[in-house]
Amino acid sequence: MEKNKQNCPHGHGPMQLATTSHKINFRELELTCPVEQYICRECGLELATTKQAGAVQRMLADTYREKKGLLTSQEIKTRRKDLAMTQKELADSMSVGIASIKRWEGGIIQTPGMDKLLRQAFWPRQREASFTGNRPFYIERIKLSLVMFNNLYNHDLLAGDNRLLYSGKLLWYADMTAYRELGRSITGATYAALPMGPQLNNYRELVPDILKSDENTAEPLSPEEKNIIKRVYERFPGKTDAYNASHQEVIWKNKRTGEIIPYLESSELMKM
Ligand SMILES: [Zn+2]
Repeated sequence: MEKNKQNCPHGHGPMQLATTSHKINFRELELTCPVEQYICRECGLELATTKQAGAVQRMLADTYREKKGLLTSQEIKTRRKDLAMTQKELADSMSVGIASIKRWEGGIIQTPGMDKLLRQAFWPRQREASFTGNRPFYIERIKLSLVMFNNLYNHDLLAGDNRLLYSGKLLWYADMTAYRELGRSITGATYAALPMGPQLNNYRELVPDILKSDENTAEPLSPEEKNIIKRVYERFPGKTDAYNASHQEVIWKNKRTGEIIPYLESSELMKM
């Protein structure tokens, strides 16, 4: 026989099933959540069964995710099924264990880093956009940006041996900031985490092409893009300032050598 009746432990007889709105502190947020539980009309005692408490926990987790811009349990499950992926296939595509997928679909909240991986697995085109900052790669725009930096610094950044060692960081800050503020990078370049800091992916091969390219054929920089480049310069007036700052950036530090730094992570970059 199903136990669907709850008696008040204070001897007031059967309790009523009711759904009431509760304010609950969850992590750092105060969430309002409908809670179904038994209430005693006599003394006001509220009692939740294990099942009811579990439902509340799942609801809190999903409300929290919505507020934090994370995929909810249901969204993860639905998207995975839309793509006809098993939990194992999704786990493999993300290089995580199947237990993680089960936990997230069951209500445990994924970290922001794992949420990014989930989105990349679910929306590969978004992943691509995140590698180029939502703009096709334009080598002439790299040159154009470097020419503007040259004028600001009053110094030829592309002269000598180090070439992109320092200026690569300036480009990185400019592109990432443009993506964060304007939704698009300036150059469409992809950046990798290298031991000497964030750098244009395949920069060695790119240097001769950058030097040869004609910046006058590039789509001109918009006022907003120019403003960003100017702010990067003002933030890093010294030759090694951007280089040093980039080595403090978590989104570089948390990558393996050679790993791409997605533009989606630009929100975590220091503000210009
Ligand atoms: Zn009672």
